Amino acid sequence: MTGRSQTGAGDLLELVRSGRAVTRGALQQATGLSRATVGQRLDRLFRAGWLREGAGGPVDSPLGGRPSITLEFDDAHAVVLAADLETRHARACVLSLTGEILAEHSGTLVIEDGPDAVLGELGRWFAELLEKAGHRAEEVCGIGLAVPGPVDLESGRVVQPPIMPGWDGYDIRGRLSGAFTEHTGTGPVPVLVDNDANLMAYGEQRTAYPDCSAFVLVKVSTGIGAGVVVDGSVYRGIDGGAGDLGHIRVPAGTEALCRCGSYGCLAAVASGGAVARRLAAAGVPAASGSDVRDLLASGHPEAAALARDAGRQVGDVLATVVTLLNPGVLMIAGDLAGTPFLTGVRELLYQRALPRSTARLEVVTSRLGERAGLIGAGALVVEHLYAPERVEERLLAMGV
Ligand SMILES: [Zn+2]
Repeated sequence: MTGRSQTGAGDLLELVRSGRAVTRGALQQATGLSRATVGQRLDRLFRAGWLREGAGGPVDSPLGGRPSITLEFDDAHAVVLAADLETRHARACVLSLTGEILAEHSGTLVIEDGPDAVLGELGRWFAELLEKAGHRAEEVCGIGLAVPGPVDLESGRVVQPPIMPGWDGYDIRGRLSGAFTEHTGTGPVPVLVDNDANLMAYGEQRTAYPDCSAFVLVKVSTGIGAGVVVDGSVYRGIDGGAGDLGHIRVPAGTEALCRCGSYGCLAAVASGGAVARRLAAAGVPAASGSDVRDLLASGHPEAAALARDAGRQVGDVLATVVTLLNPGVLMIAGDLAGTPFLTGVRELLYQRALPRSTARLEVVTSRLGERAGLIGAGALVVEHLYAPERVEERLLAMGV
């Protein structure tokens, strides 16, 4: 039992948004509230502009009597901003509340320049994107940010990130909200920060595998990280550390120095950066994971062989992950995601994991590609702001 009643305006909105009850009659039935009480609560949601009557005609009421008008979430009353930071590159967009990208920009933004410069620049990008999308800054209800490091969700700060020098413990929320205000002249907005693999997993699971109750995404780019979505929610562990696979020690890596300062990490032998170093040592010009991606796309044989080898290293670790979590989908994303890497993953995975844990497992590559982090970040903001427990305080703040 929770202390909160399950029949407030926020709960009705949740029922409509999820499609579980979309008429007044169905809401009465789902909540046990009277017709008059449902009407009063819906009125508040209509006045806030969060709910509208559906475009389709009336449907039969579950309580009998007159056919009822369907209700739907009105996604026109606000927009969301989202950004996804890579080590040397970033992507940002304006999203509708239902996750449609309305304007998008990507360009060079170097994590090592530090949070003050990077987040300041993002504020400028956001202002330009809003103009491009034809939306006012006042319509923005929140900002979602994906970063390549472990995040403490409570504080929105990164915790000892190996590839984000200068960001440890920095007030990302405050700075990004401030940069938004600086460039648009509007008041502060809520900012949510999460790890990139978590948000990619969240975006992909909701979009392509909504019925999968145990979903794992592994991002292999500059680093290696995993996002785990269980029963529709990101599983973060007790302090945001879940899924940080890149620094598991592997036997093949004893000689390899990792960016975290240790020797023998998985990321030091099987990440995009590690493959680039091995290619460079063999005389193939490659300096980063994205260079490796380009080589793979052009069918470069040495890049393919090294990517497959990296896939085997990661697959060995994933055998344990799959045995522990028994996921329905294991998705490979990031610079190395492609046939050679996937082949390597499968080789080791099916060899090392119990047949039972892989019998119904789908091993796939990303569906949303480079937009997965943005879609996930946008969804995180919307689910946070329209969660039943937050709807009530937001309605009161609006005087509704
Ligand atoms: Zn490491």
